[in-house]
Amino acid sequence: MTTEFTPTPIPVSGDGQAPARGTDLIIDARNVVKTYRTDAVVVNALRGVTFNVTRGEMVAIMGPSGCGKTTLLNCLSGLDTIDEGIIYINGEDINKLSDNKRTEFRARQMGFVFQFYNLLPVLNAIENVELPLLVSGTKAGDARKKAESALDLVQLRDWGKHKPAQLSGGQRQRVTIARALVNRPAIVWGDEPTGDLDTANADAIMDLIQDLNRQHNQTFVIVTHAPDIAQRCHRIIHMKDGQIVREDVPQAVAR
Ligand code: ADP
Ligand code: MG
Repeated sequence: MTTEFTPTPIPVSGDGQAPARGTDLIIDARNVVKTYRTDAVVVNALRGVTFNVTRGEMVAIMGPSGCGKTTLLNCLSGLDTIDEGIIYINGEDINKLSDNKRTEFRARQMGFVFQFYNLLPVLNAIENVELPLLVSGTKAGDARKKAESALDLVQLRDWGKHKPAQLSGGQRQRVTIARALVNRPAIVWGDEPTGDLDTANADAIMDLIQDLNRQHNQTFVIVTHAPDIAQRCHRIIHMKDGQIVREDVPQAVAR
């Protein structure tokens, strides 16, 4: 699948840790406008957001409640439609895809660590992880092997038979991450992935995310309220009132 679009190169930061920006844009969103209209109100949730991410980057999105962070993730991942602008994911104009194709694209290219994508309580860890594979038509045997190796990646090899209620909050979040990774997606989206965890567990989840980023060049876009989580990303995007107002490079990355 190709488009005529060629991304504009962005100067390379040369920090040695973050990937060279602009060489391989996995997300390229331009002037994205999203307005929610109900009978009573019009909410300008995104008011012209331009944002890009290079393959292998870990980007944090911060901003006050209601500023449009979740809306941005929903639009970038094609869970929600947009009113204006254009979004290329891996070179694909996602809003030109039919609903079915977009769903398929999402299943193949994206993993989600979202609060509303909870684990199913009746399934054990391994069954939860293999579910997206089975839904997208992977044979049962292959799905099981892939789910096992995804659980391995999050250091839960021996916990596959446990149901969510038999796991700690941190372990449950690891299972969610394993499920997000099982398709080897291009991008993993996290909407406050450590929001329900205590500091120690949140740090452990961030260790895991950082390892996956470094070892597998896995791209992550993570909404978070926690400055110390954001500091562990390559770049921090600050939003306010439906716009990106600032972009920081954490000290650990900047040289
Ligand atoms: P954040 O994730 O930064 O807290 P959201 O993206 O959830 O913010 O919301 C941005 C704005 O859009 C808020 O004012 C919210 O009330 C509104 N909003 C979000 N989703 C909907 C929806 N489905 N219908 C109407 N308004 C919405
Ligand atoms: Mg939100």
